[in-house]
Amino acid sequence: MTELVRNYIGGRWVDSRSGTVFETVNPANEQVIAPVVLSAAEDVEAAVEAAKVAYPSWRLMPAPRRGEILYQVARVIEARKEALARLMTQEMGKVLSEARGDVQEAIDMAYYMGGEGRRLLGYTAPVEMPDKFGMALRDSVGVVGLITPWNFPIAVPSWKMLPALVAGNTVVWKPSEFTPAVSAAFVEVFIEAGLPEGVLNLVQGAGAAGEALVTNPAVRVISFTGSTETGLKVYVKAAALGKKVSLEMGGKNAIIVLDDANLELATKAITWSAYGTTGQRCTATSRLIVQRGIKSALIDALVERAKSLQVGDGLIDGVEVGPLVDAKALEKVEQYVAVGRDEGARLMIGGERLDRAGYFYAPTLFSDVKPEMRIAREEIFGPVLSVIEVDSLEEAVAINNSVPYGLSSSIFTENVNAAFRAIRDLTTGIVYINHGTTGAEIQFPFGGTRATGNGMREAGQTALDSFTEWKSVYIDYSGRLQRAQIDNREG
Ligand code: NAD
Repeated sequence: MTELVRNYIGGRWVDSRSGTVFETVNPANEQVIAPVVLSAAEDVEAAVEAAKVAYPSWRLMPAPRRGEILYQVARVIEARKEALARLMTQEMGKVLSEARGDVQEAIDMAYYMGGEGRRLLGYTAPVEMPDKFGMALRDSVGVVGLITPWNFPIAVPSWKMLPALVAGNTVVWKPSEFTPAVSAAFVEVFIEAGLPEGVLNLVQGAGAAGEALVTNPAVRVISFTGSTETGLKVYVKAAALGKKVSLEMGGKNAIIVLDDANLELATKAITWSAYGTTGQRCTATSRLIVQRGIKSALIDALVERAKSLQVGDGLIDGVEVGPLVDAKALEKVEQYVAVGRDEGARLMIGGERLDRAGYFYAPTLFSDVKPEMRIAREEIFGPVLSVIEVDSLEEAVAINNSVPYGLSSSIFTENVNAAFRAIRDLTTGIVYINHGTTGAEIQFPFGGTRATGNGMREAGQTALDSFTEWKSVYIDYSGRLQRAQIDNREG
């Protein structure tokens, strides 16, 4: 067991005020990795106070200089990539190659947002009066609160933290209780990169610490990623205090495969999207909507591939599917598989936990799934794929759009007309053509519709919208009272 994982507040590693601790556990072998401080409202308050104190000077640091610190953050992550990835695999179970990809997202985001230090573009536009000038500027907001899940312990926080910081805000971050050690290691990167004290604060703990952040009046923005259930609670509490909220929540993503699809390509992409990260990606494929003509060949190929998947500890070379994050997640998958059987779906492979230490479940595929079944509508968050048969593209698109969630969707077809119709009609925030439902790039907006989000997006230029306010500026250099002022046209 390693040493106690602490909070980072005002530039110092500190214990929680109460002295209470919890443990972070390796889901591949159920061994304790480290004890962790469990924070309560008083710890969150101290972190918010530190962020408030640091804000005035961070806000006034020229943005290009803030951007240079982010470039340094990118370089430090590059140097520590392997260590961060290994710790991530130990703490939440995804296989090492995927953990490296998670860390790489933060490197990409740090370089991208570092560049924003020399952009943060506003605009000018013509104004109605002579001798007058108008411009719109992005302004920082103040102290922002970030609440993140365990499944992308470095990528998701980086999508929030880096735009928030380059825009001049100070941050209090409450990571998931399942990934405290890798979160602390990520904060160390910012310390080494020279971020001034108090600009980034880390508070370890569970729901109570998250709630204290949401309800703290000094925190003006809450950016949350996690389940829809928690996200909506956060939304209601924050809205009552007039806060700006960005929500990225659950998914029930589908791949559509039409009869003319490239079978081999579709098989590889579906396998990776459904069983990669043990089905615990927000963008994981959990529905396969397949046209009648190609269905049985595709199911045969998928079952063959699922049989050969290596399930085990993600640190071991050759392992393709790691464990679920904890015993509760494993039970949830078991319960949904029972529901699927009861609903009349046909189990083609999997359907059982693996008899060994750790939270392992066999890659599972149901066929004969009907769109109204619970396994076709609810987020299972495990290695379970439900196959729904359709006759046409129109039927497939309608089924895709019929679930409460709207994160990502995909279609496999060689027909350009079908592909463009799908792009037009699929109502998810992300659409893929001849590619699985996972694998976003940081320069494009990321997020979903309906129960997946509240209209905000992460990544891309849009990430700045969560962490900035617009300030419109009018400069009258005529030296006299002009008509617009007399008429009070601006209201
Ligand atoms: P979760 O909702 O259980 O927890 C998310 C975070 O919220 C954690 O830090 C948790 O401690 C905190 N929290 C819990 N209760 C809270 C409360 N009452 N107030 C404030 N904070 C509280 O989610 P999870 O299990 O960590 O993550 C998995 C979920 O996240 C899945 O539903 C997945 O689809 C979703 N997710 C979505 C995206 C996306 O971008 N759309 C990305 C990754 C994960």
